[in-house]
Amino acid sequence: MQAPPFLLGLTGGIGSGKSTVSAIFAERGAAVIDADAISRATTAAGGSALPAIAAAFGPQLIGRDGALDRAAMRALVFQDAGHRARLEAIVHPLVAQETDRQTRQAVVEGRPMIVFDVPLLVESGARWRSRVDRVLVVDCDPDTQIARVQARNGLPREEVERVLRAQAARAERLSAADIVVANGNGVTLHALQQQVRELATRFGL
Ligand code: ADP
Repeated sequence: MQAPPFLLGLTGGIGSGKSTVSAIFAERGAAVIDADAISRATTAAGGSALPAIAAAFGPQLIGRDGALDRAAMRALVFQDAGHRARLEAIVHPLVAQETDRQTRQAVVEGRPMIVFDVPLLVESGARWRSRVDRVLVVDCDPDTQIARVQARNGLPREEVERVLRAQAARAERLSAADIVVANGNGVTLHALQQQVRELATRFGL
């Protein structure tokens, strides 16, 4: 019988380099499960959460493009924390279902490793930590995170800082790490790739 895949939780702040790291593991044959993409898909056009959202909050929450009207939902949630809880009670089980489906598929495919790319892994407390064998943190100083995100999408600095403040602090994330990949100021893309490839080799990929 085939050994079960190694379950690696991958996290890091916005712009730390998670996508770059997960792409390298994917090149080496790991299955990558992207928690944010799964969550977004549930409320995109035709998404599995939309019928329940329309039933709970009203059909006006669904935009003309058939996707969740994010601005309208944000306004509702902002008004009342109870709305957030109701929304999460709809979305979370669907995300868990799809995550389980992708996990089973990776097992059937005989993947040696499954990488769970979860930006808010540390923030989620025990929920994710208990599901993975090891937690890998991509570590980066905030100034470099801000510069990378700005270069990527041209957001104003204050906006990126706001996202950073809403995420776990660097020290908190590091204290949850079993493995740290350094990708801060002065680390070139090449050096990052080298670190991750060595790690992948150590994991037998
Ligand atoms: P995350 O997925 O954590 O938000 P990304 O992997 O998308 O981060 O990286 C953010 C941006 O920074 C991307 O445009 C990526 O190419 C770039 N980047 C990541 N690491 C480095 C590095 N060491 N040197 C230069 N650019 C980098």
